[in-house]
Amino acid sequence: MHALDIFQQHPTTFSFEFFPPKTPESAENLYEAIRQLESFQPHFVSVTYGAGGSTRELTNDLVVRIKETTSLNPIPHLTCVCHKEEEIHAILRRYAEAGVSNILALGGDAPNGADYNKSDDDFQHAADLVKFIRRFNESGSHPNKKGFGIGVAGFPEGHPGTPNRLREMDYLKQKVDEGADYIVTQLFFENRDFLDFRDRCELAGISLPIIAGIMPAASLKGMNRMAELAAGARFPARLMRSLQRCGDDTEAMTQVGIHHASEQCHDLLENKVRGIHFYTLNRSDATRQIFRSLGISSTQ
Ligand SMILES: Cc1cc2nc3c(=O)[nH]c(=O)nc-3n(C[C@H](O)[C@H](O)[C@H](O)COP(=O)(O)OP(=O)(O)OC[C@H]3O[C@@H](n4cnc5c(N)ncnc54)[C@H](O)[C@@H]3O)c2cc1C
Repeated sequence: MHALDIFQQHPTTFSFEFFPPKTPESAENLYEAIRQLESFQPHFVSVTYGAGGSTRELTNDLVVRIKETTSLNPIPHLTCVCHKEEEIHAILRRYAEAGVSNILALGGDAPNGADYNKSDDDFQHAADLVKFIRRFNESGSHPNKKGFGIGVAGFPEGHPGTPNRLREMDYLKQKVDEGADYIVTQLFFENRDFLDFRDRCELAGISLPIIAGIMPAASLKGMNRMAELAAGARFPARLMRSLQRCGDDTEAMTQVGIHHASEQCHDLLENKVRGIHFYTLNRSDATRQIFRSLGISSTQ
C-alpha cells in the first residue's frame, strides 16, 4: 500500500526495520523473527541498504521475498552513495515491476575503508534522489498511478554533517518540497528531543507524518556500536547508569533497554505520535515485549 493511503487510513502506524542477512544462519533467524512479528500486522516493514550500496542485491532479494511470501508491505531503503542515475533507474524499475509501493530515500553511509569520492556520485543529497524518484513516478513507470510513496530521514538531535541546525531544517524542507510523503527519524532515547523536532518541523512548514525511530538498548557494547551507526544520537546518563548497574548480567541489560523503550512508546502515544518504527536488529523478542507492555496484539 502507498504511504499516503497508509497514513490516511491509520492515525498511528507501527513498523519494523530489518537488515539483509549475510549468512544462511542469520537468514534463518531473520525469517523466524519476521514470522513472529508478522502476527502484529505492522503497517509496513523496511529493509536497509548497506553502506555504499554494499547490500544492493541482498536488499532487493529480501524485499521481494517478504513481498512474495508474507502479508507484509516491505519498503526498501535506497541511498545516493556510489550510485549513477542509470543504476538507480534500473533499481526503481525492478521494484516497480515487483509491485513495491514505497521507497525510503537516503543520503547513505559512505562505504567502509574504500577509496570513496562523494563528488563522483550523481546524487549529492537525499533531496536529489527524492526528485529523481518523483520524476520516475511522473513518467508512469509504476503500476500504481501515484508511483512510489517516498520516505526520508529526519534527525531529532541533528545530523553531524550540518552543525547549523537552522540550515539543517532548510535541507529537510528541501526533501519535503521535492516530493517526500513521510519522515522516519533516527533513533533517540529522550522523547523531548523528538517532540521538539516535531515542533520545529511544524514551524518550518513541514506537515508530513513524522515517524519516531525506537531502538531498545540491549547492552553497553551494543550502545557503542549504535553510537557509531546512529549519527547524532545522544545517550542519556539515566539509561547508561541503569545499564552499568547490570554489571555482566546481559538479561538484566536487555530488560533495562526494553523497559526504557516501552516507557518512550507509552509517552509518544500519549503525545499523539503519527507512528513508531522499531529498529529490530532482526530479532523479535524486544519488540514483542514492548508491544505486550503497550497492550497491542495487532495493529490493524
Ligand atoms: C531512518 C533511517 C534509515 C537509514 N537507513 C540507512 C540505510 O539503509 N543505509 C545507509 O547507508 N544509511 C542509512 N541511514 C543513515 C543515513 O543514510 C546517514 O545518516 C546519512 O548521513 C544521512 O542521510 P539523509 O538521508 O538524511 O541524507 P541527506 O538528506 O543527504 O543529508 C546528509 C547531510 O547533508 C546535509 N545536506 C542535505 N542537503 C544539503 C545541501 N543541499 N547542501 C549541503 N548539505 C546538505 C544534511 O543536513 C546532512 O547533514 C539511515 C538513517 C535513518 C535516520
